[in-house]
Amino acid sequence: MRRAETDIPVLETDVAVIGSGGAGLMCALHVAAADPALEVTIVSKGAVGRSGCTRMVQGGFNAALSELDSVEAHFRDTLEGGHYLNDQELAWTLVNDAPRVIHELETQVGCLFDRTADGGLDLKPFGGQSFDRTVHRADQTGLEIMGRLRDQMLRLGARELEDWRALDLLFDRHGELSGVTLLDIRSGRAAVLLARVIVVATGGSATMYRIAAPAREKTGDGVAMCFRAGLELRDMEMLQFHPTGIIAGSSRLTGAVLEEGLRGAGAFLYNSLGERFMERYDPVRLERSTRDVVARASYTEIVEGRGTEAGGVLLDISHLGAAEIERRFGQMLARTRLIGADLATGPVEVSPTAHFHMGGVIIDRDCFTSIDGLLVAGEDSGGAHGANRLGGNGVAESTVFGARAGETAAALVGERALYHPDPELVSASLARTYAPLRRERGPAPFALTDRLKDGMWSYCGVVRDQQGLLAGRALLEELTEETSFIAAGGPPEANPSWQEALDLENQLTVARLLVESALAREESRGAHYRSDFPVRDDERWLQAVVVRRGDDGSPSIGTRPVELTRLATDGEALASRA
Ligand SMILES: Cc1cc2nc3c(=O)[nH]c(=O)nc-3n(C[C@H](O)[C@H](O)[C@H](O)COP(=O)(O)OP(=O)(O)OC[C@H]3O[C@@H](n4cnc5c(N)ncnc54)[C@H](O)[C@@H]3O)c2cc1C
Repeated sequence: MRRAETDIPVLETDVAVIGSGGAGLMCALHVAAADPALEVTIVSKGAVGRSGCTRMVQGGFNAALSELDSVEAHFRDTLEGGHYLNDQELAWTLVNDAPRVIHELETQVGCLFDRTADGGLDLKPFGGQSFDRTVHRADQTGLEIMGRLRDQMLRLGARELEDWRALDLLFDRHGELSGVTLLDIRSGRAAVLLARVIVVATGGSATMYRIAAPAREKTGDGVAMCFRAGLELRDMEMLQFHPTGIIAGSSRLTGAVLEEGLRGAGAFLYNSLGERFMERYDPVRLERSTRDVVARASYTEIVEGRGTEAGGVLLDISHLGAAEIERRFGQMLARTRLIGADLATGPVEVSPTAHFHMGGVIIDRDCFTSIDGLLVAGEDSGGAHGANRLGGNGVAESTVFGARAGETAAALVGERALYHPDPELVSASLARTYAPLRRERGPAPFALTDRLKDGMWSYCGVVRDQQGLLAGRALLEELTEETSFIAAGGPPEANPSWQEALDLENQLTVARLLVESALAREESRGAHYRSDFPVRDDERWLQAVVVRRGDDGSPSIGTRPVELTRLATDGEALASRA
C-alpha cells in the first residue's frame, strides 16, 4: 500500500468491481475465468453478495429454454413491454445470452432451480410474456443465485472491501481514468483505489420515493458518480412502479414487493367496491398485464376514491387454496403474516411501489462506456428495457451483462496502465465527502430525505404533469441548497447521519435527472405517464432522452432517435421486410 499526495492510503488492482450484486459478482467470476492471474477488488457498500436487490429477487429469471419458446419471442415481448424505446442490440443480447447464463448458473455456479416431475426446468408465467419462461427457485430465486455466487467468491479469493463505499471516479491530468476514491464506512477513513479497469455495478436506485421496494444501500451512487464524470445517461424518466407493494403503515415492510408470480398464477385485484378493476384497463390480459399498466390502474383507482382506507387496492389469491399458496409462495405468505394479513386465506392491501430504474448509463453490448477503461453493468446501465422492464428480465440483465463486463474487463486490462490520479480531483472528492462531518451546525439529513421522498412521490410518481414536475424541480433546488449545509454530527466511525448525507446527495442528483428527463418527454410511454400528454407519440418521441453534465454542473438534456435495428414498432422483423 502506498500513500497519495493527500496522505491517504493507495491500493492498486487490475480490475475494480464496484458493487457486489448479481452484476458485480458475475463480473468478478468472469474476470477470473478469463485470466486467473488478474487481481480483482470488489468494493461493496453492503455485505458482499448479501446487499443490493439481486438477493431480493423473488419471482425469477426469464430465459427462452423450452423447445416451444424462442429467443425471438422473448425479444418481441421485451420490446413490446418496453414500448419500443429499448436499445434493440442490448435487448437482443439480454435474451440471447439468458439461456446460456441459466446453464452456467446451474452447472458451474451450483444453483438449484425448481423442476417439474419429468425433470425439466419449471418455467412459470410472468406479466407481459407470450410464453411461460421464468426460471425460479420457489419465490426466493435471488437468495439461491446470490448464495451460490457468494460461495464461488470464497473459492476465487478476490480482495473484498466490504462496507466500503465508492465515492468518485478519478482521472489523471490528461483525462485518463485512473481509479476511484473510497470511504471505509466502519472506520470513516478514505482511500484511493487505482485500477486499470473499473466496472460500475451499484444497482441504480429507486429509493428516493416514499413507497419503495429496493435495498436501502442503493442510492444511485454509481449513476451519480458517472454523471459527475461526464458520461451520458438515457431514459432517466423511466422509473418502474411495481403494482403490488405491501402497505404496512410506518413499518419498513411498506413498499416490499409481493411478487409478480402471484398475478401470473391467477391472483385478482379488487378495489374497495369489490370490482375486479383490471377489466376496465386491460380486458384481455387483466392482472397479467405489464407492470406499467397495472400500477397505473391501481393508482387511478386509489386517487379516484375507490381504494382502501389505507390508500391501496386488494390482491387476492386465496382461491388457489392455502396448501398450494404455502408450497409456491411461502416467503410471500410469511411476509403478509408479519403485518397481520394472510395471503393464504384472504386479500392483502397493496399499492404501487417504486421498484426499478430502467434509465442509466449508456453502454454497448460489451458494457463499454464512452470513457476508456470504464464499464457499466446491471441496473446502473440504461437501454435494455426501454420504457418498462418485464418481470424476470432484471436478474437476467444483471447476470448477462455482469458476465460480459467481466470478459471485457479481462481483455482490456492488458491495454491499460495504472495512471496517477490528479491530486486536485482526489482533494475535491474528499472535501465534498467530509464536509457534512466537519460542519458544526446545520440541518440533519433525515428530514431532508423524507421531503425528497414525499416530493418525488407527489411530483414525479406514477402519473406526472408539467405543473407537478416544475414543483418537483423547485423542491429539488431547495433541497440541494439545504443539503450543502448539512451537519452530520458524531464521530467518523459508522456514522449513520454522515452516510445518510452522502446518500442524499446522490439521490438528489438522480432525482434531478429523473425530473428533467420527465419534463422533456412530452408524451406517455410505458412507466412515464404524463396526464397532460396522455398518448404515446411515435411520430415525435421514438427517441431516447439523453442527459449529461453541462458546463455549470447541471443536467443538459438532448434526444437521440431509437435505432430500430431488428424489429419495427408494428412488431415485424426488419429482416423479413428486406
Ligand atoms: C424486491 C425486489 C424483487 C425483485 N424481483 C425480481 C425478479 O423476480 N426478477 C427479476 O428479474 N428482477 C427482480 N428484481 C430486480 C433485480 O433485483 C435487479 O434488476 C437486479 O438484481 C439488479 O442487479 P445489480 O447487480 O445491478 O444490482 P444489485 O443486486 O442491487 O447490487 C448493487 C450492489 O451495489 C452495492 N453498492 C451500492 N452503492 C455502492 C457504492 N457507492 N459503493 C460500493 N458498492 C455500492 C450494493 O451494496 C450492492 O452490493 C427485483 C427487485 C426488487 C427490489
